[in-house]
Amino acid sequence: MGLGGLFVGPAGIPLSAKGSGVLNGVRVVKELGLDAMEIEFVRGVWLKPEEAPSLKEVASETGVILSVHAPYYVNLLSKEEKTVRESVERIINSARVGYLAGAWSLVFHPGYYGKLSSETAVSVVRTALKNIVSKLIDEGVRIWVRPETMGGLAEFGSLDEVLAVVEGVEMTHVALDFAHLYARSRGTLNRLRDFEKILDLIEARLGREALKEMHIHVSGIEYGDRGEKKHLDFKDSRFNWVDVINALKNYGVEGVIICESPSLESDALLIKQKIMELSSRA
Ligand SMILES: [Zn+2]
Repeated sequence: MGLGGLFVGPAGIPLSAKGSGVLNGVRVVKELGLDAMEIEFVRGVWLKPEEAPSLKEVASETGVILSVHAPYYVNLLSKEEKTVRESVERIINSARVGYLAGAWSLVFHPGYYGKLSSETAVSVVRTALKNIVSKLIDEGVRIWVRPETMGGLAEFGSLDEVLAVVEGVEMTHVALDFAHLYARSRGTLNRLRDFEKILDLIEARLGREALKEMHIHVSGIEYGDRGEKKHLDFKDSRFNWVDVINALKNYGVEGVIICESPSLESDALLIKQKIMELSSRA
């Protein structure tokens, strides 16, 4: 099916609308000339189910595509059964309220390897994800559930791992964070061809249609020996975001691009401008 284009917006309520609530946040996204927004449940699922329908209404009025990001305190790979159980609940609760708000996708961080090998971790996360999705499907909650590619080397979430987790599992897809993959590679993965190879791999593993349903994160980023250190604005980072956009255009990718730079909407607007520039040339 696909979204029919690339929608761009900030990770959270725009800075220019801070403190004025999530509904107004969506309106400001639209006023800025953007058309997507990710709702960040950083410390917990703060959106109440009874507030979700009005959010859905404003999103559909303005044509802004919503997504939700599950709380950061999630670790499906923990040794503690309680942590895993609570992680699963946080993902499911995020999906439920996101669906009520009309969100297209739910993004989550799978967790930390601890002492597990990549192979074992893939099988643990995949099993958990299958259970999560089957519960959501039983409840009639329809939303893309997306493990994210992560920037820290201690974090589960190389592209291969995330693909292995979602391959063949209904209602799941990747959240492709290009800045994280750049940080994870400690800066080596930063050319147009590198980004195109990522898209080739997704197409090979998930099929051509997968490129029409992409959910992408970008930001400037700082990395060290252990991968990601912190997000930066594009201008303060060597991350080659322009060629990410070129690669997406070259491959006819459709979906949502969420900007996670600290300046949120300013860098999101740079992405939007770049896309418009490329479209007018085509
Ligand atoms: Zn994330």
